[in-house]
Amino acid sequence: MFLRICWLYSELMNIYGDRGNVMALVERCRRRGIDVEVETRNLGERIEQGRYDIFFMGGGQDREQLAVAKDLCGKKGEIIRDEIENGASCLAICGGYQLFGKFYKPFEGDELPGIGVFDAYTIAGKKRMIGNVIARSQLGGRSGLLIGFENHSGETYLSENISPLGMVEIGNGNNGSDGKEGAIYRGAVGSYLHGSLLPKNPSISDFLIEKALLRKGSLLSFTPIDESIEENARAQAIERARKSH
Ligand code: GLN
Repeated sequence: MFLRICWLYSELMNIYGDRGNVMALVERCRRRGIDVEVETRNLGERIEQGRYDIFFMGGGQDREQLAVAKDLCGKKGEIIRDEIENGASCLAICGGYQLFGKFYKPFEGDELPGIGVFDAYTIAGKKRMIGNVIARSQLGGRSGLLIGFENHSGETYLSENISPLGMVEIGNGNNGSDGKEGAIYRGAVGSYLHGSLLPKNPSISDFLIEKALLRKGSLLSFTPIDESIEENARAQAIERARKSH
């Protein structure tokens, strides 16, 4: 079985260790005997319809988001949105998550258009939200919890049409007021959690891989793998976050 990952804006949108998400997806495919290829697509590089099974975009500062928003405008953003509507998986973190909504209004400057995967919008606030986050989520594995850390001033608000990835127990999440963290729509996951997210939360990796395999009609390749090391690391990270709260 073979999966191809599109790593969007690997040069611009890759802060706080977000490249670790790509590494986690590759590793969890490899351990299942799934061949996987990673292709980066940066400014000015086109995206071929139907070529990719999983899309990933990491976080970035407002300056990088301005360049990326311009590059995504039009055909490129439409293709990504259509692929997700047609069953492709996607993970978008923080600044990437914001640009997968309808728009992102930075603290200074004009509103940046998003590609509208998530029925959500983001407005930068005065407060920078930084720190560990624990959120209860159906994709939180045995403990039902997600763990990561956040560093953003953007406040994201979801419409009633899409579900949050989880509900915050510690930290701010989407906006520090409605208790929601991230968003989930079809096979697309948005989150504010850096860390990076997937090595600390293997159930989300498996959600993305399983959706991608489903689209290719080959769920047979989706076999369970031993997660004792990951679960042990998660328990310690969650304990540490609770103690530091
Ligand atoms: N520039 C955005 C914000 O500050 C996203 C930051 C990030 O990706 N960590 O909210």
